[in-house]
Amino acid sequence: MVLIKLICKHCNGQMELDDSLEVATCRFCGTKHVIVRGAKSTDCKDVNEYVKEGIAFIEMGQFDKAYEHFKKAVDADPNNSDALGWYAIAMSRSSSPMLKSGASSAFEKSYRLSNNEEARGVIISAWLSHEVDFNRVYNAVDDTHKEVVIARMLEGVEKPFLGILLTYIGVFKFLLDVRGEEYVKETIIPKWIEQLKSLLSAGKIYPDPLLVEVAYHNLNDEEKRKAISLLATDACRWPRDTDHHKMRRAAVLRLSVQDEVAFKDAIRVESFLTFKESTQLARENAAFFRSKKEAEKKEKKAEKKGGFFSR
Ligand SMILES: [Zn+2]
Repeated sequence: MVLIKLICKHCNGQMELDDSLEVATCRFCGTKHVIVRGAKSTDCKDVNEYVKEGIAFIEMGQFDKAYEHFKKAVDADPNNSDALGWYAIAMSRSSSPMLKSGASSAFEKSYRLSNNEEARGVIISAWLSHEVDFNRVYNAVDDTHKEVVIARMLEGVEKPFLGILLTYIGVFKFLLDVRGEEYVKETIIPKWIEQLKSLLSAGKIYPDPLLVEVAYHNLNDEEKRKAISLLATDACRWPRDTDHHKMRRAAVLRLSVQDEVAFKDAIRVESFLTFKESTQLARENAAFFRSKKEAEKKEKKAEKKGGFFSR
């Protein structure tokens, strides 16, 4: 065993350590160090320095480089919540799918180890912008932070274009899970309807066709027409075998089967439907209204009968 002497970068205290070590802790101030072996000499580097360097790379948008720095810090000091939080952020933004998939566990560990309220709030936000399964975050945080998670989700609802498509649907499902159907119906959907109306008046539409479907039946006829023609026109900008096209097409067709306005407008958008497709749609649309009428008739009959017998 060879002993080497190094100076703590944090407090200038002298450390005497086994040359074979990879990491060292200063016995004066407790700062963790990574041992750096150069061609000529061995030195040590304060874990916090790695974190600082990593942050600088994050600020430059170089997440993979940042990751390398945070990894050194975390390897040396696995329970350093701060380093772990940054490590998780770098992973979540990494170009490597493997690293990305590990980010959630790192966020969770960082959250658990941290006793700094502000830092915990930052971790929750960063974690939520990465994690698609919001229930995972919700279940992992303390009771005091469950409301914070919901508040963040609601902010997402306020700013529809900040979220990625999947995230947006995820928010919907999540709020449905934790707050129930009634809450979503009363609080969330009215917001979406309002947003969709103002978007339509500006000639725009939600990037997510499923959200258009949720709000569609609350629009007036003119808004409905705009919504369908925007969805169908947008679908036509993409080749038929792309998801982008398929999602929009499916939404328009689903709406068209149950709604006269949608049906007429879907047919009107040029090159959206082939002749065969529009005849098929016309058949389905007619069948839908026929069965609806029949159901209504039955209901009326049942009402009459009920009235007769109850008298
Ligand atoms: Zn020290």
